[in-house]
This record gives sequence, C-alpha cells and structure tokens, in this order.
Amino acid sequence: MTRLYTHADCLRHDPGAGHAEVPARLRAVLEALDHDRFAALDRVEAPLAEIEQLERVHAPDYIQRILGSEPDAGTFRLDEDTVMSPGSVAAARRAAGAVCAAVDAVLAGETSHAFCAVRPPGHHATPDRAMGFCLFNSIAVGAAHAMAVHRLKRVAIVDFDVHHGNGSQDIFAEDARVMYASSHQAPLYPGTGEEDQPCGGHIINATLPPRSGSQAFRELWEERLLPRLYSFKPQLVLVSAGFDGHRLDPLADLELESEDYAWITHRLLQLADAHARGRLVSALEGGYHLDALRAGVAAHVGELMA
Ligand SMILES: [Zn+2]
Repeated sequence: MTRLYTHADCLRHDPGAGHAEVPARLRAVLEALDHDRFAALDRVEAPLAEIEQLERVHAPDYIQRILGSEPDAGTFRLDEDTVMSPGSVAAARRAAGAVCAAVDAVLAGETSHAFCAVRPPGHHATPDRAMGFCLFNSIAVGAAHAMAVHRLKRVAIVDFDVHHGNGSQDIFAEDARVMYASSHQAPLYPGTGEEDQPCGGHIINATLPPRSGSQAFRELWEERLLPRLYSFKPQLVLVSAGFDGHRLDPLADLELESEDYAWITHRLLQLADAHARGRLVSALEGGYHLDALRAGVAAHVGELMA
C-alpha cells in the first residue's frame, strides 16, 4: 500500500514570475499522478506541522522569524533565491507536516510507503537559515519526529536530488542516529558536500561531475552509498526525492533519465525491505523542468506502488 500526502496550501506559496520553484511544479506532479495507473494511491491531506515538531530541528527564533516574515501581498525576499509570498508559511508547515504524518502512518503499519507531494522543498534549510528555495527542512523534521515520538535509533535520509542537502547534513552532523547519504553534482549550488570532509561515519557524500549520466550515477549508488546504508541497518528510510538530475533540468547537468528514478527507488525499497520492514517515506525536493518532473515522479511513485 502506498499513500500520497499533499495539500492545496502547497500551491499558494509563489516566489513570483521568473523563479524556478513555481506552483506549476506541484500542479505537474499532481497531474502526473492523476492517471489510472495511480488510482490505487491512498490520498491523504497533509496536516500543518506543529511548532513543536519544527523546533526539533530549527531554532525557535528562526521559526518565529519565518512565521513573521510572510507578506500580506507581493513577495518578501529572505535571500537572493529564497522568497516568501502570502501562503508560504502554511505551505512550508504542510510540507513538514506531511512527512511527520507519513512517518506516523508507516510506523503504525497503516501503509508501507508514502510520497509527500509538497513544496517548498526543504533540504537546504539549516537550523537557523532559509536558503535554496527552502524554509523548513521537511525531511529532517520527519527524521527528528521518528526518533522523538517513535523512539527509532537509526533513521536513514537518502538524498538523490542533484544538489547537496547542506541543511540536512548540518542538522544531523552531531547525531549519529541519522545516516545522511547524498549523491550530488559538483561543482554546483550550494557548494557543500565534498567527499572527504571530516563529518563522521554517518554523513556520506558522493559527488558526480557534470554530464555524468545514468551509468555513473548507478555505479556511485551501488558501490559507495548503498553498501554504507546496508551496514547502517536503518529502521526507517526517508528520501529527499529531487528530480533535478534529469537531462532536461535547467538548473543542473547531470543528464539522468526518468528510468534512473525508477532504478534508485527500487534499490531503496530493497534496502527498506532488508532492514526497515519495508518502511519508506519520500518527499519532493527539486525538479524544475515540468515534463521531466512529471516523468520522474511517475517513475518514482510507480515503483513505490509496485
Ligand atoms: Zn535540487
């Protein structure tokens, strides 16, 4: 059984014309999933994340600053990439709330797999800084929720977005209960995630040069990331699912194909089956070419339902 968590509030956050992270992204994702092939998805409205849930990974004064920065009209710029509009706070709270609710559902045995079709993305948001289109780090909030409420001792965050999830790494740099494993293009925004940086055995970064393509991506996961994840034996697999590694994406040039997203999803489900009783929760991060995003999400969710 696979659940889909989403909410109409996630369509209201609008950084404005010319920005890459637009409401049309989520409309494209929902269109892709509005197809007979996905009729068996169990569709659930995402709740708002509680402030207490956000405070597990973000500083209280940072959360208050975000809550207080939403403009009544127009936009408010937090940095050169990261913009708030009317509705942004609810969107970001639904995104993090979706992951927490999905974690609750898989740990209660109500479903094995869940995909959170939400925006804004989250993996660049640090404990006290919005950046890279991200306000609250939804996948990190979900990991912290799993540990605080469900007492899990080993949670994997697997990040196949083309960018490094610097925020997720920062949040769990000192917490070995979380293994953060990321493949990302380098050089590329945000410039973090070098392979040999001394961040302990639970932060696993693997980089790919531009134009690496499918084979190099799959080899990287098979040879370097998946073995570490199997050794860690996660009780829950969380996925930062970004589709901006696709060859059509305007923000990067990793040159992946839609089939690569089916492949990595299948391999992560095998990991979840081996160690986590099949429990896997995925949340949308990047993906900025609408056709590539539709195809990538369809490949990903199709595997989750298989
Ligand atoms: Zn990205």
